[in-house]
Amino acid sequence: MNPEDEKKESRVGPTLVGEEEIPCPACQAPMKITHHVYDMPHVGRVLLTSGRCSRCGYRVSDVMLLDGKGKRHVEFSVEKPEDLNKLVVKASSATLRIPELGLEMKPGPAAQGFITTVEGVLRRFLDVLDFLCRSGEADEDTCREKRRELEEALEGRKKFKLVIDDPLGGSAVIEW
Ligand SMILES: [Zn+2]
Repeated sequence: MNPEDEKKESRVGPTLVGEEEIPCPACQAPMKITHHVYDMPHVGRVLLTSGRCSRCGYRVSDVMLLDGKGKRHVEFSVEKPEDLNKLVVKASSATLRIPELGLEMKPGPAAQGFITTVEGVLRRFLDVLDFLCRSGEADEDTCREKRRELEEALEGRKKFKLVIDDPLGGSAVIEW
């Protein structure tokens, strides 16, 4: 790599823009979080926030579009298997729903933000379902039914809509 290319390379990497101390959402101990701005291909500038509590290990992880074009209500229809590869930026301030599957992620003090694909969102729901089923918080029939629906969706055999509401406009489905 010549020096000119290296310079270009470093320009697209995450840039530290701030650090602050907040009370840990889990144990209230002071924890340091950092903010980075990252210019992501296809996505644009995103603000990445992360930190880890040195007392209890709780992780803070959030992401927010900086050029969110004021988007607040997003509806993305998944109709073919390729749609599962689209990128989803979900800020912690957003509510993400899949009405056809009766699934919802709500904002809250412990909510995380993330960038993943539509498939990644389905896998997150599947992880939560597994947790609820293992801990006995969901009954067997519900577990079986929900898992079947999620697996159909993951295999591209089910049409559904991904709905995101973000009062801060930092979330989106990226189509590219
Ligand atoms: Zn903590």
